[in-house]
Amino acid sequence: MSDFDFDLIVIGAGSGGVRAARMAAAAGMRVAVVEERYMGGTCVNVGCVPKKLFVYASAYREAFEDARAYGWEGQDGARFIWPTLRDNNAREITRLNGIYRNLLTGAGVHIIDGRAQVSGRHQVSVRNETYTAERLLVATGGWPFVPEFPGSEFVITSNEVFSLEVFPHRVLVVGGGYIAVEFAGIFAGLGAETHLSYRRDLFLRGFDNDVRIFVRDEMGKKGIHLHFNHQVKAIEKLEGGALRVTGSDGEVLEVDAVLYATGRKPNTKGLGLDALGVVTHKDGTIGVDDNFRSSVTSIYALGDVTGGPELTPVALAEAMALVRHWQSGETAEIDYNNIPTAVFCQPNIGTVGLTEEEARQAGIAVAIYRSDFRAMRHSVSGRDERTLMKLIVDKESDRVVGVHMVGPDAGEIIQGMAVAMKAGATKSVFDQTIGIHPTAAEEFVTMR
Ligand code: FAD
Ligand code: NDP
Repeated sequence: MSDFDFDLIVIGAGSGGVRAARMAAAAGMRVAVVEERYMGGTCVNVGCVPKKLFVYASAYREAFEDARAYGWEGQDGARFIWPTLRDNNAREITRLNGIYRNLLTGAGVHIIDGRAQVSGRHQVSVRNETYTAERLLVATGGWPFVPEFPGSEFVITSNEVFSLEVFPHRVLVVGGGYIAVEFAGIFAGLGAETHLSYRRDLFLRGFDNDVRIFVRDEMGKKGIHLHFNHQVKAIEKLEGGALRVTGSDGEVLEVDAVLYATGRKPNTKGLGLDALGVVTHKDGTIGVDDNFRSSVTSIYALGDVTGGPELTPVALAEAMALVRHWQSGETAEIDYNNIPTAVFCQPNIGTVGLTEEEARQAGIAVAIYRSDFRAMRHSVSGRDERTLMKLIVDKESDRVVGVHMVGPDAGEIIQGMAVAMKAGATKSVFDQTIGIHPTAAEEFVTMR
């Protein structure tokens, strides 16, 4: 029996922390988790889950409109009631919080509620108590970053957006990444006059250029006002609560809410890591080796706080790899290549592998297969929404090195494509695969 209170103390009950704690407890370790805010972390409380529910909510507007062509009537009086969505979302999150708590206690994990500080190489302080463990795992995630400028105190972030008292009928979303495009789609779908401000000439930097252009056009068709090469200079609060936003171009915009989605910073402030000599990068993320070990041998870290791809399945994979490493002694191998991802803008983006630009830059002789069509559903609804599918193939090996889609359920479809890519599928394997008809997905196996 060791002299420590626990074999492992995990700081943060988010995606990575909960998975690591449960797995370690199942492997026989004595485990405690410290959580200061909410069970399930960002993803469950202010991330993936509520975001997806809000995306569902926002899609009903078009569904009601499209239903007419299919013979449905009576939806003309349909009204969106914000408190209903907000409160049903809150109830669902509370339910999930309970499930996460039960999962941990059911696995034999000791839960400590409060803010943890690392007060020694093997020691954590929570309020006035100290706890010791052979290993500490920092899984504290990240926090929205808002640049400082006159009036920045008036903006909201993804932390607040799900619980607003009043629905903002005019919204400015600032940023050009995942959260910005997803929320521009949500607000537009829910009926708000929606503006998106991005500092460069085209948003979604890092995605395939065809995808970026396609999404720009589709968002434009939905009435979202896209302000590219635009920066917010100042925000002023007017009498009555509206916000007056002045851009660097001098343009003035009046809105009810400004949502900043300009990236996230790691939750390391005040954790006490510096005093122990834990090496962090310039952006505050914790430096770890292949086995998620920091520069202090008893302290490990994983998930968003280490600066890798900020995605829940990545944090989960890291947690599982780390516990397996502790059990087996083998290196915690994670393949960060070909991580599939979806952006739940409308229509959705689903993507895995190289973009055309990345493939060309890597010197790959590429063959590009591209299909751009109106989905069957809209041939009757008449909606001017298109779907894009694109395959990037290495001509030399015939291997499919990138699959990209913009269209309904792109995330659902790309998950299967990611399995095919992991298995090393070639274009000829795609061609030999029989399609499922009538679907949009069959296009991936019929592109010639
Ligand atoms: P987190 O889930 O952030 O958990 C960290 C936990 O640590 C938190 O509960 C926090 O309260 C706690 N904590 C921090 N400091 C302390 C301390 N000192 N003491 C005690 N507890 C502490 N990813 C996807 O894959 N798909 C999506 O659709 C998706 N949508 C997203 C939408 C939004 C709006 C946001 C913000 C993120 C989204 N993400 C999505 C990203 C995903 O939520 C994160 O990648 C994931 O939650 C990271 O998990 P983690 O365990 O590293 O940290
Ligand atoms: P991202 O890193 O995706 O995007 C940040 C955006 O803000 C970029 O467009 C960036 O511009 C811009 N930006 C950064 N700093 C400033 C500044 N000072 N002024 C103006 N613009 C600025 O971050 P998000 O906040 O959108 O999301 C955080 C992460 O959460 C994502 O990267 C993703 O990993 C995860 N997430 C995943 C989702 C999913 O899986 N569906 C959904 C939501 C979040 P530039 O391009 O010029 O750098």
